[in-house]
Amino acid sequence: MKWKSHRECTRAIAEDLGLPKEPMLEGCVYPDRVGMKKYGKGVYIEGVAMHYPHHKETDQRIKTMILRLRKKILKGEQPDPFVLGCLCHLIQDRVVFPHSDERFEEFERAVAEYRIKEEWRKEPIPLVDGAILWQLPRILRLDNPNDPEAALKEGYKESLLILKSLLQDPNLPRKFQPIYEETKKKLEARKKLRYAYWLLTYLNPLAPLNALLDGRAISQRNIVKRYGHVKRNAARKGWISIFAALLCWGLFGSGPFGLLCLMPFIGQILTAWFEVPKELMRNLEWFNFEKDEAKR
Ligand SMILES: [Zn+2]
Repeated sequence: MKWKSHRECTRAIAEDLGLPKEPMLEGCVYPDRVGMKKYGKGVYIEGVAMHYPHHKETDQRIKTMILRLRKKILKGEQPDPFVLGCLCHLIQDRVVFPHSDERFEEFERAVAEYRIKEEWRKEPIPLVDGAILWQLPRILRLDNPNDPEAALKEGYKESLLILKSLLQDPNLPRKFQPIYEETKKKLEARKKLRYAYWLLTYLNPLAPLNALLDGRAISQRNIVKRYGHVKRNAARKGWISIFAALLCWGLFGSGPFGLLCLMPFIGQILTAWFEVPKELMRNLEWFNFEKDEAKR
């Protein structure tokens, strides 16, 4: 996308969301400024590379940036509008052909002929929760490869949808509160099962590997989030356990050692009784489940 189009979209978004316009407009062209070969490597915004070639693996960069910014928002920090501008740039770049496509330049020029229409800004934009992370490939898909005006609209709408969703209230929406309370109560009641999980998963030689996969669960103090994270990597921990046990039996013919390696597998089966509904699973990184979580 040309700078003119980036600015056109981002200006409207800043106004729509009541964000500081100047730093956002600066941010929305910054990745192209530093994205040329002559600037070399080492330009990072929120840990995401902006240097050449920033037009590669853009979806992953967008996802990482969203996650980092959301983490700050959950801690009560305000995201930097300049960084939001950079994020807009990456999103908007996805509505035109990739640089390598021969139609890229002509199409980019055609898009720059158009302006944001007032009527587009009146259309409602949904608010998406943590589901936005796995919906990204669909949201960022190139939808209008032959219509420059529709591409500009797409750039505006997609970056607005993502920014609006990213900047929403950090606390768990009221509609999820009852599910959360119920899940918390159930997990608290499963004390023996919880102990069994940790003992089976960690009293064996695979403990260091499992600790890596359980990193987030271990650092998490909220019980629902902790067991949500435990469940997320359960399959991986289970496979490692089976693989290690087979290795022990096959290679070393060690029966007791193999059995020890199989313990985490049983631990992972137990996670089936840690029920965390999908509404909470997809929002482990998206909301503070308790009001005072940010301060802890
Ligand atoms: Zn770019």
